[in-house]
Amino acid sequence: MSTQFTDAELLAYLDEGLPVTRMTAIEAALRDSEPLRLRTAELRDQREAQGHTVGEIWRRSRLSCPTRHQLGSYLLGALETNLAQYILFHVETVGCRYCAANIEDLRASQPADSAETAQRRQKFFQSSAGHMRKRRERD
Ligand SMILES: [Zn+2]
Repeated sequence: MSTQFTDAELLAYLDEGLPVTRMTAIEAALRDSEPLRLRTAELRDQREAQGHTVGEIWRRSRLSCPTRHQLGSYLLGALETNLAQYILFHVETVGCRYCAANIEDLRASQPADSAETAQRRQKFFQSSAGHMRKRRERD
């Protein structure tokens, strides 16, 4: 339901100024509701037209940006859910171009099938380990 959030809440959400549980609830609603996404985008655009909100200042000075290391972990799916959701929100909803560019860059430097590669690497490691330590029992 997209009507369960007020404009003020959505704006606070854009500023990351809500308690985590509320942030998460809005994030979930945004994923499910196209009208809510449009409404939030409209609120964001209205504020950006004004250009002097806390959120805008944060984005300009990139105070709310995750580190490059966090972005890398995000791409690998190695972050805890809250942080991963934050980054998704930060890039997709807030539309941080700096982080989007950083993610593009990180993605380009990773093999496209990194999950498969990791799996292959693990198999190789297991067979090497098995070969080298044949007598060692598995736990
Ligand atoms: Zn950013």
